[in-house]
Amino acid sequence: MSKIKIGSHVGMAGKEMFLGSVKEAESYGANVLMLYTGAPQNTKRKEIAELNIEAGWEYAKKAGIEEIVVHAPYIINLANTVKPEIFELAVTFLEKEIKRTAAMRSRILVLHPGSHVGAGVEAGIEQVIKGLNLVLDDNEDDVFIALETMAGKGSELGVTFEELKMIYDGVHKRDRLRVCFDTCHVNDAGYNLVGNYEGVIQQFDKVIGMDQIAVIHINDSLNPCGAHKDRHANVGKGYIGKDVLKRIVHDDRFAKIPKILETPWICEEGSAKKTLPPYKEEIAELLEE
Ligand code: ZN
Ligand code: FE
Ligand code: FE
Repeated sequence: MSKIKIGSHVGMAGKEMFLGSVKEAESYGANVLMLYTGAPQNTKRKEIAELNIEAGWEYAKKAGIEEIVVHAPYIINLANTVKPEIFELAVTFLEKEIKRTAAMRSRILVLHPGSHVGAGVEAGIEQVIKGLNLVLDDNEDDVFIALETMAGKGSELGVTFEELKMIYDGVHKRDRLRVCFDTCHVNDAGYNLVGNYEGVIQQFDKVIGMDQIAVIHINDSLNPCGAHKDRHANVGKGYIGKDVLKRIVHDDRFAKIPKILETPWICEEGSAKKTLPPYKEEIAELLEE
């Protein structure tokens, strides 16, 4: 049996940058990790030379970490047709983010497809396709863009598997696309993972193909199926529950796929501030047979 690939999102900041990310992942007992190349809520980024990539990988090899995933900041919006500067920023940022992802030796860049901000699903999807073509047509890096399944909060796109398929169908280099399957988002989108796990996987397989899943985000959800909320819960503390999350972690069909926790940090006893990462305990819990 091959080893389950599991980890969490980790920070990348300070002097150590990537080396710090790797040490953080090691402290959780992880063998994969996901990071943002800077703050997830802005597009300010350091030069590649300042990311401390060599030292990080040297440490990673010893720590048994062989694979990393990069997540694009969630504020960029390729679907925006209302403000051209927002769309243009998303395109130019992504062009550089692919370079950073390749330089960090990750083959996967996770991307939220975007929000149509009132223009409607079809117009939004058209714009995402246009943006992805601008980014990918002239790019030859060995990096996949993994479109994340979304919860359907606000005007988010990529909520149904069919919407993701529409994006695939419009992108010239569709072989450069993959999917990041987020359990919280899929639940919130209205797919009944709890009552019909196999049915949801089969539905995904029919529409897009199971082989297109490149990353799985393992999150419980604070809200019931179909709530369109996107509020992550700790493992076993939400509507999806530990059993279903364990089922996907241990599903042999996804053995080669990195599973990344994005569950919330928890409050230290007696404190109201979220200060402690839950990942060491949650990884151990999910790995139990
Ligand atoms: Zn995401
Ligand atoms: Fe996610
Ligand atoms: Fe989320």
